[in-house]
Amino acid sequence: MAKREYHLTRHCVGEGCHDVQIYTYHTQKDYHDALRRYANQPYHCPRHEPENLQPNSPPRHIIITCEHPDAKLFPNIQDGHYWSDGSGFTFGPGFNAEAEDFPIGAKIHIDISIELPSVDTEH
Ligand SMILES: [Zn+2]
Repeated sequence: MAKREYHLTRHCVGEGCHDVQIYTYHTQKDYHDALRRYANQPYHCPRHEPENLQPNSPPRHIIITCEHPDAKLFPNIQDGHYWSDGSGFTFGPGFNAEAEDFPIGAKIHIDISIELPSVDTEH
């Protein structure tokens, strides 16, 4: 006999977006835990996440700080050095960094700006 599965479908909240995520759980408990976990977290597909860049996006300045983990947010995490983006290892185009290699309080500054071509180059 096939095992029962529980499916949870999340629809992107972006206007007019049809993107969905479908999760499969093998126990009713896992399914209900997921319902609770996602209750106050609307799903945004990559295009509708706040981080998504568009041609008209304004410049952004992002700072990632080396810090100790917040024991309240991460009660089961080992003490040590972590980046403020929630990981011990961070990366992006052209760089990667282990938090343990940096002192607490070190900051990585990342600037993002869009430069569009000044002439029509699509022909
Ligand atoms: Zn979307």
